[in-house]
Amino acid sequence: MSAVTCKFGGTSLADANCIKKVRDIILSSNNRRYIVPSAPGKRDSNDKKITDLLYLWYEIASKGLDAHEPEKIIRERFGAIVSKLSLDIDINKDIDEIAQNAGKFDTPDYMASRGEYLNGKIIAKCLNATFVDPAKYIFFNESGFLDTKTYNILGEQLQGSGLFVIPGFYGSMPDGTIKTFPRGGSDITGAIVARATKSVLYENWTDVDGFCMADPKIVPNAKRIDEITYQELRELSYMGATVLHDESIFPVLEAGIPIHIKNTNDPENPGTIIVKSRLPKGPVCGIAGLGGFSMINIEKTFMNKEKGFGLKVLSVLDEFDVPWEHMPTGIDTISIIIRNNELGNKGPLIVDAIKKRCNTDEVTLTKGLAMIATVGLGMNHHIGVAARLCSALAQAHVNIRVIDQGSSEMNILIGVDESDLNKSIKSIYEAFEDWQ
Ligand code: ASP
Repeated sequence: MSAVTCKFGGTSLADANCIKKVRDIILSSNNRRYIVPSAPGKRDSNDKKITDLLYLWYEIASKGLDAHEPEKIIRERFGAIVSKLSLDIDINKDIDEIAQNAGKFDTPDYMASRGEYLNGKIIAKCLNATFVDPAKYIFFNESGFLDTKTYNILGEQLQGSGLFVIPGFYGSMPDGTIKTFPRGGSDITGAIVARATKSVLYENWTDVDGFCMADPKIVPNAKRIDEITYQELRELSYMGATVLHDESIFPVLEAGIPIHIKNTNDPENPGTIIVKSRLPKGPVCGIAGLGGFSMINIEKTFMNKEKGFGLKVLSVLDEFDVPWEHMPTGIDTISIIIRNNELGNKGPLIVDAIKKRCNTDEVTLTKGLAMIATVGLGMNHHIGVAARLCSALAQAHVNIRVIDQGSSEMNILIGVDESDLNKSIKSIYEAFEDWQ
């Protein structure tokens, strides 16, 4: 049988009605065998995510204070789900155990993982499925990375007939303590389960129709992307397109398992399918951008003739423990683009250190930069893409601060003032929307 792994996000499982919808989706195909749930998310914009409440509970309890409030809300949320689904399950007993351990660990991981754990138990009961606790079958190594022995051990555990529910977001360290993936990490669990079970497809069910060519908050009617490669998606996710956790691509990429983004509220919508390779129809498949960058600009006459100059500059960043994102260069100039949250307040110190160590003519720090990625496999050897992009920005009166095209010719990166970010994305989208 062609087994399918399905991951359901927190908003798709926010209450009993949502869970009923999810149950119908799962039972509508015999191939949907491995189910990876998130913790219940927000029911509306004023609501709280269960995971956020668990982090709060840990924070209060670890200080030895009374965490009555988050505990009460969590009991009510899960209690309501269990009673509306008429499930024979003593969820309060599980929550009692969590309460006993609330502030016990050095990190919040155990507490944060309990939303997925409890929801997994509920969904397994609801589907009459086997509950598989990832604490026993998903392993991290000492450095906190996934131990690849997981694939075989988990795969063996998931053999046999019927449905399996594997809660998302966590596994265990070599000493047996619980460790979580980064926030939104149930997507990663889904990918690991798909790989371990050799699923033919990884369905990622969420509350949107898939990826759009641009963020719908900026371009309200942006077209949905039917098909995109892992690599294109990674370029867009890196610039803030966040339907799917970008680390979830790796487990399935190696095994070539497609990821299908689907909408729980509109299951018939074709969604977006993420594949290893595709035949592009047009040059651009998506545009994504983010503010919050700074740029260090370095000038030195005859820089190109000085061996080891770049190395010296980068050694300064290394000493300050600051990672960099892009480095466009000219003959006598280098610009280094860095995320503000990585740079912190080290900018002026780094500028001084580069001046001293590299004997430069000028080093300046520019803040308030936004970076925009225009991505598409079809750009490769397609003449006129950069011309169209630049003229769209010129017409929108946007000044391009920096421009960079990788040698893979599938991504043109531009830097603009943060205040021009939305205007730029809109104008680039309009320029490429119908260029097939
Ligand atoms: N519940 C976790 C979070 O809120 C993990 C997930 O939903 O994927 O980040």
